[in-house]
Amino acid sequence: MRLVKRAALAGLVLLAASPALAKGVSEADLRGHIEILASDEYEGRQPGTAGEAKTVKYIAEQWAKAGLKPAAADGSWFEPVPLIQRAQGSSTHIFTAKGRKLRIVSDDIILIGKEAQYAKSGLPVVFTGAGVTSDGSVQADVKGKAALLMFDADTVPDRMKSPRARREALVAAGAEAVIFIGDSQGNWPVLRRALLSRTIGLETIEQRAALEGGISTEFAVAMVTAAGRDWDKLRAHAKQKDYAGEALGIDADFKVTTDVYRFNSSNVIGKLPGRKKGSGAVLYMGHWDHLGICAPEDAPDRICNGAVDNASGIAVLTEVAERLAKKRHDRDIYFLATTAEESGLLGAYAYAAKPVFPLDQIVISLNVDTIAVAARGAKVAIIGRGNTKLDNIVEGIARKAGRQTEGSSDANAFIERQDGWALTQKGVPALMVGGSFADLDLMQKFLGSDYHGINDELTDKTELGGAAEDADLHIALGQYFADTRKYKSAKAGE
Ligand SMILES: [Zn+2]
Repeated sequence: MRLVKRAALAGLVLLAASPALAKGVSEADLRGHIEILASDEYEGRQPGTAGEAKTVKYIAEQWAKAGLKPAAADGSWFEPVPLIQRAQGSSTHIFTAKGRKLRIVSDDIILIGKEAQYAKSGLPVVFTGAGVTSDGSVQADVKGKAALLMFDADTVPDRMKSPRARREALVAAGAEAVIFIGDSQGNWPVLRRALLSRTIGLETIEQRAALEGGISTEFAVAMVTAAGRDWDKLRAHAKQKDYAGEALGIDADFKVTTDVYRFNSSNVIGKLPGRKKGSGAVLYMGHWDHLGICAPEDAPDRICNGAVDNASGIAVLTEVAERLAKKRHDRDIYFLATTAEESGLLGAYAYAAKPVFPLDQIVISLNVDTIAVAARGAKVAIIGRGNTKLDNIVEGIARKAGRQTEGSSDANAFIERQDGWALTQKGVPALMVGGSFADLDLMQKFLGSDYHGINDELTDKTELGGAAEDADLHIALGQYFADTRKYKSAKAGE
């Protein structure tokens, strides 16, 4: 017992003697923030809820304590993000063929309008297969019509696999209504759940049809058959390359009421003002939101706490802010906690559309998301590798910090799934750097288990070692990129 104690004490002395370690971010530092942000009291941090109010207040308080200054356009910590949430109300639908009303014995239809009231008669119905062809384009004539498309898509290119991408392509082609067909056995329950999930949108960027919804295959077969068409033939046609869709000879009358809820959420933004005006800025970002109350009413635990995703990222940002605030830097350093990442990077897109300083002044943007996965000693991966000229510099700084680097670009598989993507699309050098995406087997293990479920909570077993080490790396990156002598950027006329 005693011997062990002595050994531990010797270890402590060693730690204290090493200045780099002494100043480092610890697991306990991070745990303190995550404990609060991922507590049940914060209700899973869903935008527009009491959980949001607590979350953004906590972040602003912590960032003020860390030494940041509020940096929203109005001088506060909070940049408003106008969001919209839609939920199914009541609806009636009548389908006719040659003036005859079709008898469809199925209630598997969900219709959601863009606005609270929607009514249209005589809309021609077009079957479009997967919505787009094998080259990803819309060949069907859907302008001003109701487009039907299969929820499942095996004939389309990867970039069009998501229902959202295909829906947006049909909207761009002028579809008045976009209605997915879900497989009764498999996809209908998934589609149904998605449609009823009260998804949040960002009105300023959303590409939405006047009417959207879904029907089961059972409903589709009944409708098509009643109109005298053969469903199996239709499906076979749709598998052909360059399938251009078919008008079904069916007209639709819709009358739809939708619960439309508009509200302001907030991005939290703070800054460390730099010493050299006009020399550019470093931007750290990470999303504060998570999925809120996510399990049915009778479940024993209903809250998706989002400890790893992404209370861990906010914890790292806060500790990095505190360390960087101890000294004045040449460039401004901004910290941005975004809302509604889980609904499609919405806070980040809102920020990219209305930044508080010009985006072309950002010398590097570092997103921090789902950082508490790997243990200490993990390699450093770069999401966004190959997109900027910064890879070598970042890896050099990582190696100097005693880290090994992951040479492959495998982590780029996640590039569109993180907030930095909204900035990458605007030409900002945006990277995500750290250990959690270096060991993709470990990441997949997390994605396949606790991720986006009620078990993403803080426990004694939550691995915070890699996150602490990554926090130290982010401090080193900030110190380097905010220094105009060390990093001379082509930006800001340098
Ligand atoms: Zn998530």
